[in-house]
Amino acid sequence: NKQVILKSRPVGEPKESDFALVETPTPEPGEGEILSRTIYLSLDPYMRGRISAGKSYAASVELDSVIVGGTVSQVIKSNHPQFQVGDFVLSNNGWQTYAVSKGETLRKLDPTQAPLSYSLGVLGMPGLTAYAALLDIGQPKEGETVVVSAASGAVGAVAGQIAKIKGARVVGIVGSDDKRDYIVKELGFDVGINRKTQELDSALKEAAPNGIDVYYDNTAGVILETVLQQINLGARIPLVGLISEYNATSTPSGPNLMPLLIKRALIKGFLVSDYQHRFNDFLRDVSGWLQSGQLKYKEDVVVGLENAPSAFIGLLRGDNFGKLIVKVNDD
Ligand code: NDP
Repeated sequence: NKQVILKSRPVGEPKESDFALVETPTPEPGEGEILSRTIYLSLDPYMRGRISAGKSYAASVELDSVIVGGTVSQVIKSNHPQFQVGDFVLSNNGWQTYAVSKGETLRKLDPTQAPLSYSLGVLGMPGLTAYAALLDIGQPKEGETVVVSAASGAVGAVAGQIAKIKGARVVGIVGSDDKRDYIVKELGFDVGINRKTQELDSALKEAAPNGIDVYYDNTAGVILETVLQQINLGARIPLVGLISEYNATSTPSGPNLMPLLIKRALIKGFLVSDYQHRFNDFLRDVSGWLQSGQLKYKEDVVVGLENAPSAFIGLLRGDNFGKLIVKVNDD
């Protein structure tokens, strides 16, 4: 059994010496287990997180352990009633040629339905990522403009094409001219932008003259920063990946968005003017809570209009304590 194990935790870009290829005896399946031979191993950006020490949405791979990974494999020995020798399965063998499994997480694959490897990509985890984040969070509508980063990749290419199917104008951001040609000529994106050779801000303005309604974010970083300057009212941003930061050796500037992703948090812009329809409910509830003493209120009253400027300056410094009010005249 050949295995790739983690020798050291990469600092910055992973190096070959962080990994080691080792040979171990092929394991024997126990009672209720199967032995499978790995046919395809999926390589995905999330693995960068798994081989670092920091806590992510899943536990880190231990040093000297086999690196985790989704696989397509074929059952070669079975002590499991549901799996026969020869069955193809979607498995998590990781970076090794053989693995034993209890079968709980295996899914049988039908090789006549689609190429086996598709279950690791377009018909598997990356495809679902593209589909669900775009449709459930991005919710593109006909005629809207959707921007996708890492647009030629496993996730981005599917997300962009689904957005096209839904009738959106789709702009893809990629890292080479070949990738740009591919997304436009082969995949039907309306515009492709090469982030390495084009000035992103002006290229986006040209590509999305009506602004951006959905940004499918696979990268965070400067792409997110630039896109945010061009989003429309009510824009939706599925925060799917932060690949521009995965190899970072120092804390990137600005807020760290990873907790938003891990906690599936929702950030939504708010403007009180959109909520006038809640005014009557608000007044009824808050008046009641004030009267019952459940809600307390503190005012900081400054007397005299002439004191307004200094009070205002103080407000921005934190000198006020409570709601700042200027008493201009006696009531
Ligand atoms: P890809 O096939 O898209 O491969 C990664 C691509 O990222 C590269 O080809 C490169 O494309 C781009 N990239 C790399 N570094 C940078 C950078 N510094 N700035 C901008 N782009 C960069 O990978 P996947 O489709 O598998 O994954 C895409 C994203 O989706 C990742 O961030 C991944 O973590 C995330 N993901 C999240 C999931 C979730 O549940 N939240 C599930 C699956 C994936 P290019 O040359 O075009 O710039």
